[in-house]
Amino acid sequence: MFNYEEEDLLPLSGIQHFAYCPRQWALIHVEGQWLENASTAQGRIVHHRVDDPYFTETRGSVKTERAIPLISRQLGLFGVADLLEIHEREDGNKTTYSLVEYKRGKPKPDDRDEVQLCAQAICLEEMRNTDIEDGYIFYDMIKNRHRVDFSVILRERVRELALAMHSYYEQALTPVAVKSRKCKNCSMANICLPKLGKLGSKADSYIAGLIRDIETNI
Ligand code: SF4
Repeated sequence: MFNYEEEDLLPLSGIQHFAYCPRQWALIHVEGQWLENASTAQGRIVHHRVDDPYFTETRGSVKTERAIPLISRQLGLFGVADLLEIHEREDGNKTTYSLVEYKRGKPKPDDRDEVQLCAQAICLEEMRNTDIEDGYIFYDMIKNRHRVDFSVILRERVRELALAMHSYYEQALTPVAVKSRKCKNCSMANICLPKLGKLGSKADSYIAGLIRDIETNI
């Protein structure tokens, strides 16, 4: 089991970028570049509405907290959760926790939102010494909660992504661009230059060929 030091922790929010495209994550978190497009601006507005760290509310047996600080030494991640519902059991049974993450748009065709929420749950489990079975993503376009089951497979995916993020970060590596349909909606497309990435890999093979030729002629 890993146990990262505080100075080695990476932003948890980056896991959604890494799940979408490791190069997108590296451009933002390794190279420190960020381009805002309409999608990311809307995302900030949706989050601003729920990021009030002083907000708590109790309705019946459910207490609600907002902007909850998170940290996991096992994953090596830190961040903030949008909303946490704490269900106190009057029958004395265990308190249960439900995380709720607010997202713009509607459910995505990939798992980037699910891995982010599951990473938050792993942080909270570690911090509060509890087990969390599921959580919810609220999409502003459909105005509905989408339930996420924190399955063994999803947890394993989160651990693998976090491990890969640390590996790239420690080596200060940015993966080469692989052009795909994702590039069309990517907030980093203008600086990623996926076409150049392809040319870049051709150039790499060309240079490798040149070196081979030189070595065989020595
Ligand atoms: S433009 Fe494509 S390859 Fe480049 S970061 Fe975005 S998704 Fe990844």
